[in-house]
Amino acid sequence: MARVALAYDEIYLKHDTGGHPEHEGRVRLCHEYLRSQPFFEKLIKVRPRPVADEEVLLVHTRRYLDSLSSIPSTRRGNLDPDTLFGPGSLKAARYAAGALTEAVDRIEAGDIDSAFCLVRPPGHHALPDRAMGFCILNNVAVGAAYATRTRGFARAAIIDFDVHHGNGTQDIFWEDGDVLYCSLHEWPFYPGTGSREQTGAGKGAGKTVNIPLPHGSGEEAYIEALEEEVLPAVRRHKPDLIFISAGFDAHRSDPIGGMNLDEESFATMTRAIKQLAMESCDGRLVSALEGGYNIDALAASVGMHLAALLD
Ligand SMILES: [Zn+2]
Repeated sequence: MARVALAYDEIYLKHDTGGHPEHEGRVRLCHEYLRSQPFFEKLIKVRPRPVADEEVLLVHTRRYLDSLSSIPSTRRGNLDPDTLFGPGSLKAARYAAGALTEAVDRIEAGDIDSAFCLVRPPGHHALPDRAMGFCILNNVAVGAAYATRTRGFARAAIIDFDVHHGNGTQDIFWEDGDVLYCSLHEWPFYPGTGSREQTGAGKGAGKTVNIPLPHGSGEEAYIEALEEEVLPAVRRHKPDLIFISAGFDAHRSDPIGGMNLDEESFATMTRAIKQLAMESCDGRLVSALEGGYNIDALAASVGMHLAALLD
């Protein structure tokens, strides 16, 4: 059986966004749900650490990090029209990205095979120099850059099945030949990037794979795109480690996304990606929560995702 870790910390509840769809109840209630599941005791519990400045600076600018650090600790406000910030936000963001670096270290040390990081704020819209779309630090990008630039992993692949395109992750690795970025997303939709023509540049030419799917797409369309385009692209890249930007907002009950998946669909996709990781890199896989805004659907989907990783 795979040794699967769960990285979670109540620090994520301190990023207080009030009545915003991306609120603390998302991870709190998911964690409660997971605790009620028979497989919970099989998960290896990992404590996230705060990401170090030099790890943040692998993907974000010094100017942006300094601007976040200089916000007075009592201040509330917006970093962009969708991204709220309060007294506990930067600490939560540091522990969200730090869950990924901790997971990479545990995998490299051979303690675990794979990890799911139940984190917030999410990450995949965060750009090198600014927050965007509920995201402050780009958690998965920090993890992939940390793995490939500072640890012993030559190549990484990121598979992003959040309903939105991960424009921040695409931007960060646009010219990076070591990190493959593959996204399945609703199109046309926020944030507007992610056309098939966007494939990377320089050393990263061909290392961005965008698969836009029409509004209302269901499991069949996702599995076909995964099997015919994403899995072959990842096999060609020969990664040493695979990341998942695991957004569950393509669930049919999600109030933001317009797709037609259910929790079983996420189990099916997870099994396919896990099988790919077994073939490509001895099962080494780091998954991190991105979106998902119907709490019941999110908890059920995260449960199926973890059960499939454990299987
Ligand atoms: Zn999303």
